[in-house]
Amino acid sequence: TENSEPGVLSEALGVLRRVFGYDAFRGEQEEIIEHVVAGGDALVLMPTGGGKSLCYQIPALVRPGVGVVVSPLIALMQDQVDALRALGVRAGFLNSTQDLDERRMVEAEFLAGELDLLYLAPERLRLDSTMGLLDRGKVSVFAIDEAHCVAQWGHDFRPDYLALSALHERWPDVPRIALTATATEATRREIAARLQLGDARHFVASFDRPNIQYRIAPKNDPKKQLLELIHGEHPGDAGVVYCLSRKSVEDTADFLVAHGVEALPYHAGLDAGVRAANQSRFLREDGVVMVATIAFGMGIDKPDVRFVAHLDLPKSVEGYYQETGRAGRDGQPSTAWLAYGLQDVVQQRKMIDGSEGDDAHRRRLATHLDAMLALCETVECRRVRLLDYFGQRAEGPCGNCDTCLTPPVTWDGTIAAQKFLSAVLRLARERRQKFGAGQIIDILLGKKTAKVIQHDHDQLTVFGIGTDLSSAEWRAVVRQLLALGLLAVEGEYGTLVLTEASGDVLGRRRDVLMRREPEKPSRARSTPGK
Ligand code: ADP
Ligand code: ZN
Repeated sequence: TENSEPGVLSEALGVLRRVFGYDAFRGEQEEIIEHVVAGGDALVLMPTGGGKSLCYQIPALVRPGVGVVVSPLIALMQDQVDALRALGVRAGFLNSTQDLDERRMVEAEFLAGELDLLYLAPERLRLDSTMGLLDRGKVSVFAIDEAHCVAQWGHDFRPDYLALSALHERWPDVPRIALTATATEATRREIAARLQLGDARHFVASFDRPNIQYRIAPKNDPKKQLLELIHGEHPGDAGVVYCLSRKSVEDTADFLVAHGVEALPYHAGLDAGVRAANQSRFLREDGVVMVATIAFGMGIDKPDVRFVAHLDLPKSVEGYYQETGRAGRDGQPSTAWLAYGLQDVVQQRKMIDGSEGDDAHRRRLATHLDAMLALCETVECRRVRLLDYFGQRAEGPCGNCDTCLTPPVTWDGTIAAQKFLSAVLRLARERRQKFGAGQIIDILLGKKTAKVIQHDHDQLTVFGIGTDLSSAEWRAVVRQLLALGLLAVEGEYGTLVLTEASGDVLGRRRDVLMRREPEKPSRARSTPGK
């Protein structure tokens, strides 16, 4: 960068200091800004908190014209614009929350060149009227935020984003910068193809967040486990707890409050006023724990979140990474803790089966879930696996995740797998029956429960052949068989069926290595008296 125009850089640096009040660029910001100011297209991959906004805000301020930012985060536009205005940046937005008068005013400002930045919702941009508006004004740069929304392969697809390919055709001379915090190799390729970013330079920052300690624990009594985490390691710390359903958000928040934790609920079913009040308490006060569905967090910038806990399994590694990424933006040690159990796998598989959309869509969801399960069941370093998923190579085991700190013990689970699978096979072959994990485990353990007696299951040859393992150990076996694709969940009741791959285990053509459950949930970093 040394022999390219020094003027551009000093101008950008001047804006950074004068407008934003920062001393120096971070990471690749400088190179990205220089490239875009010079008129080049860019595809920027940076983890959450990496500093993506400046990458388009500064070019918008340096280049003549108005920077147009496409963002799906309508709820945040007002805040973003307010924050920029407080810095003296002339910013405005157009979205469906405004009335006609408000929109007209912003449009007039845009045409008069009285704006530096204009935020647009993607569904607005598609409109002919908006396209016409942009034609009549002068655009300095197009920024496409959350660019992974254009990828069908991703986990956050928005059809409105597909229309953004028109930008290049209609305004070939305006540089475009697409930004995202979540992109695997496949998603990145899809973004570049769909947005016609063939000539764009790719800037890929490291996705490693070394200060976050990743831990995935078997789920026993999740609320109690969470409380142990908070009391034991993070008393008085700010944190986010993610739950799948609104009801479990409420239950968990109540539970924490009853045990002296300053917890607040957040989900889409709450009144907008309550949501806003809870969010602002979380942001402004110290040590508030937000219990939320994944509706919470996009665009939230709180540097000192010390832990992110998941009480339910995320649907994808992208989601997991994004949500855990909200911990420790200040670089201080933080914890990402996930509790995961057999029921999560059964429930998510059922949700995929019952989901709307075509088969290809369901297959994509299943692939995302499988990757998440593989991360949960790995006996390798979690960070190595996580970075590998995003196409990045780690130096080696990280020393700051549960598998590094307390290496899991593996055991040869081939015989256990055979016992379980043959119980499923016998029920299907001899009785034309399908059952869930609970009943099959009871059969293997030789338990004469009412349901076992009712179905004469104590007469099966597999009855009582699994007493060498405990019920909890059997559940772990089932979970791992599901994760490995050696067993499948079917239908509304979560009944278990064999897969094609099951045959390899039953026919002794394949061994199954399993992860031994730790005696106690691993508690790696000790922070006595904190
Ligand atoms: P992202 O959009 O990638 O999640 P942001 O653009 O919101 O990240 O930036 C995250 C935080 O880092 C913000 O508080 C921002 O002001 C701060 N930041 C960004 N760039 C710099 C910099 N060069 N120096 C200091 N702080 C920065
Ligand atoms: Zn590790």
